[in-house]
Amino acid sequence: MVRATEVPLADVLPVTAGVTEGGHLTLGGCDAVELAGEFGTPLYVFDEETLRGQCRAFQEAFQSRYHNSVVAYAAKAYLGRALGGIIVQEGMSLDVVSGGELAVAASVNFPAERMYFHGNNKSEQELREALDYGVGRIVVDNFHELHLLNGIAQGRGMRQKVLLRLSPGIDPHTHVKTTTGTLENKFGIPLPTGQAEAALRQALEMPGLELVGLHVHLGSPVFELEPYSEAVDTVLEFASKMRKQHGFEMAEFSPGGGFAVAYTPEQSAPEPAVYAETITSTLRGSLWRYELAAPQLIVEPGRAIVARAAVALYTVGSSKEVPGVKTFVSVDGGMGDNVRPALYESRYSALVANRVNDERRETLTIAGKYCESGDVLLPDAELPPLDAGDILAMPAAGAYAVAMASNYNLSLRPAVVLVKDGQAKLMRRRETYDDVMRADVWPLE
Ligand SMILES: *Cc1c(COP(=O)(O)O)cnc(C)c1O
Repeated sequence: MVRATEVPLADVLPVTAGVTEGGHLTLGGCDAVELAGEFGTPLYVFDEETLRGQCRAFQEAFQSRYHNSVVAYAAKAYLGRALGGIIVQEGMSLDVVSGGELAVAASVNFPAERMYFHGNNKSEQELREALDYGVGRIVVDNFHELHLLNGIAQGRGMRQKVLLRLSPGIDPHTHVKTTTGTLENKFGIPLPTGQAEAALRQALEMPGLELVGLHVHLGSPVFELEPYSEAVDTVLEFASKMRKQHGFEMAEFSPGGGFAVAYTPEQSAPEPAVYAETITSTLRGSLWRYELAAPQLIVEPGRAIVARAAVALYTVGSSKEVPGVKTFVSVDGGMGDNVRPALYESRYSALVANRVNDERRETLTIAGKYCESGDVLLPDAELPPLDAGDILAMPAAGAYAVAMASNYNLSLRPAVVLVKDGQAKLMRRRETYDDVMRADVWPLE
Protein backbone atom coordinates (compact mmCIF):
# COMPACT_ATOMS: atom_id res chain seq x y z
CA MET A 1 0.00 0.00 0.00
CA VAL A 2 1.30 3.49 -0.84
CA ARG A 3 0.99 6.55 1.33
CA ALA A 4 -2.10 8.71 1.13
CA THR A 5 -0.16 11.64 -0.29
CA GLU A 6 0.51 9.60 -3.45
CA VAL A 7 -3.17 8.84 -3.99
CA PRO A 8 -4.90 11.04 -6.57
CA LEU A 9 -7.36 13.42 -4.84
CA ALA A 10 -5.59 12.79 -1.50
CA ASP A 11 -6.61 16.25 -0.26
CA VAL A 12 -10.30 15.44 -0.45
CA LEU A 13 -10.15 11.75 0.51
CA PRO A 14 -10.12 10.50 4.12
CA VAL A 15 -6.69 10.73 5.76
CA THR A 16 -6.29 6.94 5.72
CA ALA A 17 -6.76 6.61 1.93
CA GLY A 18 -4.22 4.44 0.13
CA VAL A 19 -3.76 2.32 -2.99
CA THR A 20 -3.02 -1.41 -3.20
CA GLU A 21 -0.39 -2.95 -5.49
CA GLY A 22 -3.24 -3.86 -7.82
CA GLY A 23 -4.42 -0.23 -8.02
CA HIS A 24 -7.43 -0.47 -5.69
CA LEU A 25 -8.43 2.41 -3.41
CA THR A 26 -8.21 1.62 0.30
CA LEU A 27 -10.02 3.43 3.10
CA GLY A 28 -9.26 2.78 6.76
CA GLY A 29 -7.16 -0.19 5.64
CA CYS A 30 -10.11 -1.76 3.74
CA ASP A 31 -10.10 -2.38 -0.01
CA ALA A 32 -12.91 -0.19 -1.39
CA VAL A 33 -13.64 -2.66 -4.21
CA GLU A 34 -14.08 -5.47 -1.68
CA LEU A 35 -16.35 -3.24 0.43
CA ALA A 36 -18.50 -2.61 -2.64
CA GLY A 37 -18.66 -6.36 -3.25
CA GLU A 38 -19.52 -7.20 0.34
CA PHE A 39 -22.06 -4.46 1.10
CA GLY A 40 -23.27 -3.57 -2.40
CA THR A 41 -23.49 -0.10 -3.95
CA PRO A 42 -24.28 2.74 -3.55
CA LEU A 43 -22.25 2.52 -0.35
CA TYR A 44 -21.15 5.29 2.00
CA VAL A 45 -17.84 4.49 3.68
CA PHE A 46 -17.02 6.59 6.75
CA ASP A 47 -13.43 6.61 7.97
CA GLU A 48 -13.34 6.74 11.76
CA GLU A 49 -9.87 8.28 11.95
CA THR A 50 -10.82 11.24 9.73
CA LEU A 51 -14.06 11.72 11.66
CA ARG A 52 -12.43 11.77 15.09
CA GLY A 53 -9.57 13.85 13.72
CA GLN A 54 -11.97 16.60 12.66
CA CYS A 55 -13.75 16.51 16.05
CA ARG A 56 -10.38 16.99 17.75
CA ALA A 57 -9.13 19.60 15.29
CA PHE A 58 -12.14 21.86 15.93
CA GLN A 59 -12.04 21.44 19.71
CA GLU A 60 -8.29 22.04 19.86
CA ALA A 61 -8.45 25.03 17.47
CA PHE A 62 -11.08 26.85 19.54
CA GLN A 63 -10.26 25.73 23.08
CA SER A 64 -6.54 26.50 22.72
CA ARG A 65 -7.39 30.09 21.72
CA TYR A 66 -10.43 30.69 23.91
CA HIS A 67 -10.69 28.40 26.89
CA ASN A 68 -14.45 28.65 27.39
CA SER A 69 -15.34 27.23 23.97
CA VAL A 70 -17.88 24.55 23.15
CA VAL A 71 -17.95 22.69 19.83
CA ALA A 72 -21.41 21.39 18.99
CA TYR A 73 -21.73 19.01 16.05
CA ALA A 74 -24.66 20.05 13.84
CA ALA A 75 -26.45 16.70 13.53
CA LYS A 76 -28.39 17.59 10.41
CA ALA A 77 -25.22 17.07 8.31
CA TYR A 78 -25.56 13.35 9.14
CA LEU A 79 -26.68 11.51 12.24
CA GLY A 80 -26.93 7.85 13.07
CA ARG A 81 -26.62 6.17 16.43
CA ALA A 82 -23.01 5.03 15.96
CA LEU A 83 -22.01 8.55 14.95
CA GLY A 84 -23.92 9.99 17.92
CA GLY A 85 -21.89 7.66 20.14
CA ILE A 86 -18.62 8.91 18.63
CA ILE A 87 -19.66 12.54 19.19
CA VAL A 88 -20.40 11.74 22.86
CA GLN A 89 -17.03 10.01 23.23
CA GLU A 90 -15.22 12.97 21.70
CA GLY A 91 -16.73 15.18 24.39
CA MET A 92 -18.60 17.39 21.95
CA SER A 93 -22.00 18.99 22.22
CA LEU A 94 -24.81 18.47 19.70
CA ASP A 95 -27.19 20.67 17.67
CA VAL A 96 -30.49 19.06 16.72
CA VAL A 97 -33.23 20.57 14.56
CA SER A 98 -36.10 18.09 14.87
CA GLY A 99 -37.83 15.59 17.10
CA GLY A 100 -36.28 12.85 14.95
CA GLU A 101 -32.71 14.01 15.56
CA LEU A 102 -33.54 14.42 19.24
CA ALA A 103 -34.88 10.84 19.37
CA VAL A 104 -31.72 9.42 17.77
CA ALA A 105 -29.51 11.41 20.18
CA ALA A 106 -31.65 10.31 23.14
CA SER A 107 -31.36 6.66 22.04
CA VAL A 108 -27.59 6.80 22.64
CA ASN A 109 -28.10 8.74 25.91
CA PHE A 110 -26.56 11.90 24.52
CA PRO A 111 -26.08 14.16 27.57
CA ALA A 112 -29.11 16.47 27.52
CA GLU A 113 -27.30 19.48 28.96
CA ARG A 114 -24.89 19.37 25.99
CA MET A 115 -27.72 19.68 23.46
CA TYR A 116 -29.03 22.71 21.53
CA PHE A 117 -32.39 22.62 19.76
CA HIS A 118 -32.59 24.77 16.61
CA GLY A 119 -35.22 25.30 13.93
CA ASN A 120 -37.50 28.00 12.57
CA ASN A 121 -40.78 26.19 13.21
CA LYS A 122 -40.39 23.74 16.06
CA SER A 123 -43.77 22.22 16.83
CA GLU A 124 -45.33 22.33 20.28
CA GLN A 125 -44.85 18.54 20.38
CA GLU A 126 -41.14 18.88 19.57
CA LEU A 127 -40.66 21.55 22.22
CA ARG A 128 -42.39 19.32 24.79
CA GLU A 129 -40.13 16.41 23.81
CA ALA A 130 -37.07 18.66 24.19
CA LEU A 131 -38.16 19.76 27.66
CA ASP A 132 -39.00 16.16 28.63
CA TYR A 133 -35.47 15.14 27.71
CA GLY A 134 -33.99 18.17 29.48
CA VAL A 135 -32.27 19.69 26.42
CA GLY A 136 -29.79 22.26 27.71
CA ARG A 137 -30.62 25.14 25.39
CA ILE A 138 -33.47 25.94 23.04
CA VAL A 139 -32.35 28.38 20.36
CA VAL A 140 -35.49 30.47 19.87
CA ASP A 141 -35.98 31.60 16.27
CA ASN A 142 -39.04 33.89 16.37
CA PHE A 143 -41.78 35.61 18.40
CA HIS A 144 -44.27 32.77 17.98
CA GLU A 145 -41.79 30.33 19.50
CA LEU A 146 -40.94 32.70 22.37
CA HIS A 147 -44.58 32.68 23.47
CA LEU A 148 -45.15 28.99 22.78
CA LEU A 149 -42.07 27.90 24.74
CA ASN A 150 -42.72 30.31 27.57
CA GLY A 151 -46.23 28.88 27.94
CA ILE A 152 -45.02 25.28 27.96
CA ALA A 153 -42.24 25.99 30.47
CA GLN A 154 -44.55 27.99 32.74
CA GLY A 155 -47.06 25.16 32.64
CA ARG A 156 -44.33 22.93 34.04
CA GLY A 157 -43.25 25.47 36.63
CA MET A 158 -39.74 25.67 35.16
CA ARG A 159 -37.45 28.18 33.46
CA GLN A 160 -35.92 26.96 30.21
CA LYS A 161 -32.52 28.35 29.23
CA VAL A 162 -32.66 29.86 25.75
CA LEU A 163 -30.54 31.64 23.18
CA LEU A 164 -32.11 34.06 20.74
CA ARG A 165 -31.29 33.50 17.09
CA LEU A 166 -30.68 36.79 15.36
CA SER A 167 -30.66 37.56 11.66
CA PRO A 168 -27.80 40.05 11.48
CA GLY A 169 -28.18 41.13 7.83
CA ILE A 170 -24.80 39.79 6.71
CA ASP A 171 -24.22 38.09 3.36
CA PRO A 172 -21.74 35.19 3.56
CA HIS A 173 -21.50 34.94 -0.27
CA THR A 174 -22.56 31.34 -0.57
CA HIS A 175 -25.34 29.69 -2.62
CA VAL A 176 -28.67 31.50 -2.15
CA LYS A 177 -30.30 28.25 -0.99
CA THR A 178 -27.74 27.86 1.80
CA THR A 179 -27.59 31.51 2.92
CA THR A 180 -29.21 32.18 6.28
CA GLY A 181 -27.81 35.41 7.72
CA THR A 182 -29.43 37.94 5.36
CA LEU A 183 -32.67 39.82 5.99
CA GLU A 184 -34.37 38.18 2.97
CA ASN A 185 -34.14 34.88 4.81
CA LYS A 186 -36.58 32.82 6.87
CA PHE A 187 -34.24 32.19 9.82
CA GLY A 188 -33.86 34.30 12.94
CA ILE A 189 -35.13 37.59 14.33
CA PRO A 190 -33.95 40.56 12.24
CA LEU A 191 -31.49 42.74 14.07
CA PRO A 192 -31.32 45.92 11.93
CA THR A 193 -35.12 46.37 12.03
CA GLY A 194 -35.36 46.64 15.82
CA GLN A 195 -37.25 43.34 16.07
CA ALA A 196 -34.32 41.66 17.83
CA GLU A 197 -34.44 44.25 20.60
CA ALA A 198 -38.20 43.77 20.97
CA ALA A 199 -37.77 39.99 21.21
CA LEU A 200 -34.98 40.33 23.75
CA ARG A 201 -37.09 42.65 25.93
CA GLN A 202 -39.99 40.22 25.82
CA ALA A 203 -37.75 37.23 26.58
CA LEU A 204 -36.25 38.96 29.62
CA GLU A 205 -39.75 39.43 31.04
CA MET A 206 -40.98 35.91 30.40
CA PRO A 207 -41.14 33.86 33.60
CA GLY A 208 -40.75 30.55 31.74
CA LEU A 209 -37.55 31.57 29.97
CA GLU A 210 -34.03 32.38 31.04
CA LEU A 211 -32.30 34.25 28.24
CA VAL A 212 -28.64 33.24 28.48
CA GLY A 213 -27.27 34.29 25.13
CA LEU A 214 -27.39 35.21 21.46
CA HIS A 215 -26.90 33.17 18.32
CA VAL A 216 -26.29 33.81 14.63
CA HIS A 217 -25.65 31.39 11.78
CA LEU A 218 -24.73 32.93 8.44
CA GLY A 219 -25.06 30.10 5.94
CA SER A 220 -22.91 27.35 4.53
CA PRO A 221 -20.34 26.72 3.27
CA VAL A 222 -18.70 30.05 4.15
CA PHE A 223 -15.25 30.14 2.50
CA GLU A 224 -14.59 33.74 3.57
CA LEU A 225 -13.47 34.83 7.03
CA GLU A 226 -14.78 38.40 6.94
CA PRO A 227 -18.48 37.46 7.41
CA TYR A 228 -17.59 35.78 10.74
CA SER A 229 -15.70 38.84 12.03
CA GLU A 230 -18.56 41.05 10.94
CA ALA A 231 -21.12 38.81 12.64
CA VAL A 232 -19.17 38.61 15.90
CA ASP A 233 -18.76 42.38 16.12
CA THR A 234 -22.38 43.07 15.12
CA VAL A 235 -23.77 40.78 17.82
CA LEU A 236 -21.39 42.10 20.49
CA GLU A 237 -22.29 45.68 19.71
CA PHE A 238 -25.96 44.71 20.06
CA ALA A 239 -25.24 42.86 23.33
CA SER A 240 -23.55 45.94 24.71
CA LYS A 241 -26.56 48.16 23.85
CA MET A 242 -28.92 45.61 25.38
CA ARG A 243 -26.82 45.51 28.51
CA LYS A 244 -27.02 49.28 28.92
CA GLN A 245 -30.69 49.57 28.03
CA HIS A 246 -32.17 46.40 29.51
CA GLY A 247 -29.56 44.98 31.87
CA PHE A 248 -29.06 41.90 29.64
CA GLU A 249 -25.90 39.92 30.37
CA MET A 250 -24.77 37.76 27.44
CA ALA A 251 -23.35 34.65 29.13
CA GLU A 252 -23.26 32.60 25.93
CA PHE A 253 -22.62 33.51 22.31
CA SER A 254 -22.65 31.46 19.13
CA PRO A 255 -21.52 32.58 15.66
CA GLY A 256 -22.99 29.29 14.32
CA GLY A 257 -21.35 26.87 11.89
CA GLY A 258 -21.00 26.85 8.12
CA PHE A 259 -17.26 26.13 7.99
CA ALA A 260 -16.27 25.12 4.47
CA VAL A 261 -14.56 21.99 3.19
CA ALA A 262 -12.89 21.22 -0.14
CA TYR A 263 -14.96 18.93 -2.36
CA THR A 264 -12.57 19.03 -5.30
CA PRO A 265 -8.77 19.39 -5.41
CA GLU A 266 -9.19 22.87 -6.96
CA GLN A 267 -11.05 24.17 -3.90
CA SER A 268 -9.33 25.18 -0.72
CA ALA A 269 -11.12 25.81 2.55
CA PRO A 270 -9.66 27.54 5.62
CA GLU A 271 -8.35 25.16 8.30
CA PRO A 272 -10.28 25.01 11.61
CA ALA A 273 -7.42 26.98 13.21
CA VAL A 274 -7.91 29.83 10.73
CA TYR A 275 -11.64 30.10 11.46
CA ALA A 276 -10.86 29.83 15.19
CA GLU A 277 -8.25 32.58 15.02
CA THR A 278 -10.62 34.91 13.16
CA ILE A 279 -13.56 34.30 15.48
CA THR A 280 -11.68 34.37 18.80
CA SER A 281 -9.50 37.36 17.97
CA THR A 282 -12.50 39.39 16.78
CA LEU A 283 -14.40 38.29 19.87
CA ARG A 284 -11.58 39.46 22.18
CA GLY A 285 -11.33 42.81 20.41
CA SER A 286 -15.09 43.42 20.53
CA LEU A 287 -15.37 42.35 24.18
CA TRP A 288 -12.73 44.96 25.01
CA ARG A 289 -14.26 47.66 22.82
CA TYR A 290 -17.78 47.23 24.21
CA GLU A 291 -16.62 46.51 27.78
CA LEU A 292 -18.38 43.17 28.01
CA ALA A 293 -17.62 40.15 30.18
CA ALA A 294 -16.31 37.14 28.22
CA PRO A 295 -19.16 34.76 27.31
CA GLN A 296 -18.99 31.05 26.60
CA LEU A 297 -18.32 30.62 22.87
CA ILE A 298 -20.29 27.94 21.02
CA VAL A 299 -19.38 26.94 17.45
CA GLU A 300 -21.46 24.53 15.43
CA PRO A 301 -19.60 22.73 12.63
CA GLY A 302 -21.65 20.11 10.79
CA ARG A 303 -20.28 19.72 7.26
CA ALA A 304 -16.66 20.25 8.34
CA ILE A 305 -16.85 17.34 10.82
CA VAL A 306 -18.25 14.69 8.48
CA ALA A 307 -17.79 15.70 4.82
CA ARG A 308 -14.26 14.45 4.23
CA ALA A 309 -14.74 11.37 6.40
CA ALA A 310 -16.92 9.59 3.84
CA VAL A 311 -16.51 8.34 0.30
CA ALA A 312 -19.54 7.29 -1.75
CA LEU A 313 -19.01 4.17 -3.90
CA TYR A 314 -21.13 3.55 -6.99
CA THR A 315 -21.13 0.86 -9.68
CA VAL A 316 -20.90 2.04 -13.28
CA GLY A 317 -23.68 0.85 -15.61
CA SER A 318 -24.85 2.25 -18.95
CA SER A 319 -23.07 4.86 -21.07
CA LYS A 320 -24.23 7.12 -23.87
CA GLU A 321 -21.88 8.96 -26.18
CA VAL A 322 -23.37 11.88 -28.09
CA PRO A 323 -20.67 12.57 -30.70
CA GLY A 324 -19.33 16.09 -30.45
CA VAL A 325 -21.56 16.85 -27.44
CA LYS A 326 -20.75 14.78 -24.38
CA THR A 327 -20.49 11.31 -22.95
CA PHE A 328 -22.85 10.27 -20.19
CA VAL A 329 -21.91 7.45 -17.83
CA SER A 330 -24.61 6.37 -15.40
CA VAL A 331 -24.08 4.95 -11.92
CA ASP A 332 -26.43 3.06 -9.61
CA GLY A 333 -27.11 6.01 -7.25
CA GLY A 334 -27.65 9.74 -7.69
CA MET A 335 -30.06 12.32 -6.33
CA GLY A 336 -31.75 9.74 -4.09
CA ASP A 337 -28.58 9.36 -2.01
CA ASN A 338 -26.98 12.74 -2.78
CA VAL A 339 -29.26 15.56 -3.87
CA ARG A 340 -26.66 18.32 -3.43
CA PRO A 341 -25.53 18.56 -7.09
CA ALA A 342 -29.17 18.77 -8.23
CA LEU A 343 -30.23 21.15 -5.45
CA TYR A 344 -27.24 23.49 -5.12
CA GLU A 345 -25.09 22.80 -8.21
CA SER A 346 -22.53 21.41 -5.75
CA ARG A 347 -19.31 20.16 -7.29
CA TYR A 348 -17.54 16.93 -6.42
CA SER A 349 -14.60 15.00 -7.81
CA ALA A 350 -14.27 11.27 -8.51
CA LEU A 351 -11.83 8.43 -9.09
CA VAL A 352 -12.13 4.82 -10.19
CA ALA A 353 -11.70 2.68 -7.08
CA ASN A 354 -10.62 -0.44 -9.02
CA ARG A 355 -8.15 1.40 -11.31
CA VAL A 356 -6.94 4.33 -9.23
CA ASN A 357 -3.76 4.98 -11.21
CA ASP A 358 -5.21 4.87 -14.74
CA GLU A 359 -4.64 8.02 -16.72
CA ARG A 360 -7.50 10.53 -16.52
CA ARG A 361 -7.91 11.33 -20.18
CA GLU A 362 -11.66 11.73 -20.63
CA THR A 363 -14.19 14.33 -19.59
CA LEU A 364 -17.34 12.46 -18.61
CA THR A 365 -20.75 13.43 -17.31
CA ILE A 366 -21.58 11.11 -14.43
CA ALA A 367 -25.35 10.74 -14.23
CA GLY A 368 -27.48 9.11 -11.57
CA LYS A 369 -30.21 6.52 -12.17
CA TYR A 370 -33.20 8.65 -11.11
CA CYS A 371 -35.88 9.82 -13.51
CA GLU A 372 -34.88 13.49 -13.66
CA SER A 373 -32.62 15.14 -16.23
CA GLY A 374 -31.15 17.15 -13.36
CA ASP A 375 -29.92 13.95 -11.73
CA VAL A 376 -26.26 14.46 -12.61
CA LEU A 377 -23.65 13.85 -9.92
CA LEU A 378 -20.65 15.26 -11.79
CA PRO A 379 -21.21 17.39 -14.91
CA ASP A 380 -17.62 17.17 -16.16
CA ALA A 381 -15.41 14.69 -14.35
CA GLU A 382 -11.84 14.04 -15.49
CA LEU A 383 -11.62 10.24 -15.47
CA PRO A 384 -10.16 7.28 -17.33
CA PRO A 385 -12.55 5.63 -19.81
CA LEU A 386 -15.15 3.76 -17.75
CA ASP A 387 -16.62 0.30 -18.23
CA ALA A 388 -19.76 -1.22 -16.77
CA GLY A 389 -18.87 -2.78 -13.44
CA ASP A 390 -16.18 -0.22 -12.53
CA ILE A 391 -16.48 1.18 -9.00
CA LEU A 392 -16.64 4.97 -8.97
CA ALA A 393 -15.56 6.65 -5.72
CA MET A 394 -16.82 10.15 -4.87
CA PRO A 395 -14.86 11.72 -1.99
CA ALA A 396 -16.12 14.28 0.54
CA ALA A 397 -19.58 12.69 0.56
CA GLY A 398 -20.15 12.58 4.33
CA ALA A 399 -22.25 15.73 4.75
CA TYR A 400 -25.84 16.38 3.65
CA ALA A 401 -25.91 13.33 1.35
CA VAL A 402 -27.26 10.33 3.30
CA ALA A 403 -28.86 12.91 5.62
CA MET A 404 -30.99 14.19 2.71
CA ALA A 405 -31.47 10.78 1.04
CA SER A 406 -34.95 9.96 -0.20
CA ASN A 407 -36.89 7.01 -1.56
CA TYR A 408 -37.63 8.83 -4.84
CA ASN A 409 -38.53 6.31 -7.55
CA LEU A 410 -39.11 4.02 -4.55
CA SER A 411 -35.41 3.36 -4.53
CA LEU A 412 -33.66 1.91 -1.52
CA ARG A 413 -31.56 4.24 0.57
CA PRO A 414 -27.90 3.12 0.72
CA ALA A 415 -25.90 1.22 3.30
CA VAL A 416 -23.35 3.08 5.44
CA VAL A 417 -20.22 1.45 6.89
CA LEU A 418 -17.56 2.63 9.32
CA VAL A 419 -13.98 1.59 8.56
CA LYS A 420 -10.98 1.47 10.85
CA ASP A 421 -7.75 -0.56 10.91
CA GLY A 422 -8.84 -2.90 8.13
CA GLN A 423 -12.26 -3.61 9.65
CA ALA A 424 -15.62 -2.47 8.28
CA LYS A 425 -18.70 -2.27 10.48
CA LEU A 426 -22.20 -1.72 9.16
CA MET A 427 -23.72 1.50 10.60
CA ARG A 428 -26.86 1.45 8.47
CA ARG A 429 -28.00 -1.47 6.34
CA ARG A 430 -29.29 -0.95 2.82
CA GLU A 431 -33.06 -0.62 2.80
CA THR A 432 -35.26 -3.41 1.51
CA TYR A 433 -38.52 -3.34 -0.45
CA ASP A 434 -40.25 -4.12 2.85
CA ASP A 435 -38.77 -0.91 4.31
CA VAL A 436 -40.15 1.05 1.38
CA MET A 437 -43.64 -0.32 2.08
CA ARG A 438 -43.43 -0.22 5.88
CA ALA A 439 -45.52 2.91 6.37
CA ASP A 440 -47.80 2.24 3.42
CA VAL A 441 -51.26 1.03 4.41
CA TRP A 442 -52.95 -1.68 2.28
CA PRO A 443 -55.56 -3.00 2.07
CA LEU A 444 -57.43 0.07 3.27
CA GLU A 445 -59.72 -0.50 6.26
C1 LIG B 1 -26.92 23.84 9.60
C2 LIG B 1 -26.49 24.58 10.80
C3 LIG B 1 -25.17 24.48 11.25
C4 LIG B 1 -24.13 23.66 10.55
O1 LIG B 1 -23.79 24.11 9.30
P1 LIG B 1 -22.56 23.41 8.56
O2 LIG B 1 -22.43 24.09 7.28
O3 LIG B 1 -22.91 21.98 8.38
O4 LIG B 1 -21.38 23.59 9.43
C5 LIG B 1 -24.84 25.15 12.39
N1 LIG B 1 -25.74 25.90 13.07
C6 LIG B 1 -27.02 26.02 12.65
C7 LIG B 1 -27.95 26.84 13.43
C8 LIG B 1 -27.43 25.37 11.51
O5 LIG B 1 -28.70 25.48 11.10
